[in-house]
Amino acid sequence: MADRTRLYCDRVLTMAGSRPSGPQVIEIEGDRIASIKPADASARGADGVRDLSGLTVLPGMVDAHTHLDFDVLPGLELQQAQVDDAELAMRMVNRGIVNLQMGVTAVRLVGSRNFMDLTYRRDVESGRFPGPRVITATRSIQSSLGGRHPNMLTIDSIEGMRAAIRENILRGADLIKIFHSGFVGTHRDSTLPIMTRAELQACVDESHRFGLAVTAHAYGGLSVDECFDAGVDCIEHGFFMSAAQYARGAELGRWVVPTLGVFLTEPGIPELPHWTAAIRERLQRAREATWESIGLLKASGMDFALSTDANHGGVAYEAVYAAMGGMSNEEAIAGVTSHGGRLCGKPDEIGVLKPGSYADLFAVEGDPLQRIEALLDVRFVMKGGRGVFPAIELPRPAVAGGCPPRTG
Ligand SMILES: [Zn+2]
Repeated sequence: MADRTRLYCDRVLTMAGSRPSGPQVIEIEGDRIASIKPADASARGADGVRDLSGLTVLPGMVDAHTHLDFDVLPGLELQQAQVDDAELAMRMVNRGIVNLQMGVTAVRLVGSRNFMDLTYRRDVESGRFPGPRVITATRSIQSSLGGRHPNMLTIDSIEGMRAAIRENILRGADLIKIFHSGFVGTHRDSTLPIMTRAELQACVDESHRFGLAVTAHAYGGLSVDECFDAGVDCIEHGFFMSAAQYARGAELGRWVVPTLGVFLTEPGIPELPHWTAAIRERLQRAREATWESIGLLKASGMDFALSTDANHGGVAYEAVYAAMGGMSNEEAIAGVTSHGGRLCGKPDEIGVLKPGSYADLFAVEGDPLQRIEALLDVRFVMKGGRGVFPAIELPRPAVAGGCPPRTG
């Protein structure tokens, strides 16, 4: 018989369209939600019911653009990438646990080294260690204009790009991630395309032919125009996009995944001591553009999901920044929950609480609809029907062994 768990909740934000009022009981069967029903008075103290009264229960958050390969805020990404695969594997496990502890139960990985993300996902899914659900692009693909980076695949030919995408698909990628614009730290104008139009189009055609979405690192300007023209499904970052580009994105039904905290965290990346004056100025401009982009995005109605770009466990801050930039608290919460589920193609399973969805949820002190910072006051997290914070409730393992019978 499947495990059955019941949660008594005073307040539930399902993010599934319904607004249940009053105490509810969430019934969980196996790793999914069986029902969410009004609680009767006896339910709270009943045997086998976990009492979450006084807290707000939400769907587990989705970090819609992250990498288990590094930590973004300390900077020096190239130095961080110098670790060997064994060291990286240990860090990936730790980063996954940190995500869970903060209520992040799903991550959309947009670039990992050597298919290590697939090994990580396999072991999380088989229950070897706790970690968030993984939707992954496997290796990300860029041209040599982006500069050498050990965690990215650098390719300068159409045929090479097609072959790389085919291998990613064959190995198990859920989506394809490419780089179409440059980087603030590397290029004077980081909105210019680093691939040719023909290379970009080949990437899109090769991915779409096999039913995978393509997402592109692109800040704004010509790189975003070309992505729209080529049929790229989603823009990552997008902070230099114009009002007209957000409007066009909305009209075409494309997505954008902002990475607000990368520039908005203070002190943060622009304050790191190792930059030259010229780069520091570009980073400051990116910070200003990022603040402005929140209002432009909101006004356009373009589909979006919020993300950290590898600030592990910090996606709640993204909701706080979105609200500071003018979004309603509810929009901001959707940005870290249901929108991420839709972007990952799992609108009924991830980022929502409803019958049939994964039993991925977290509970916070206070009401984030009133005070968005409450998303950070995590008291309880469950993934797939098992508690993962404050205690990790793993099934008892099957340990090999046996003792000979004692005599005398
Ligand atoms: Zn990234």
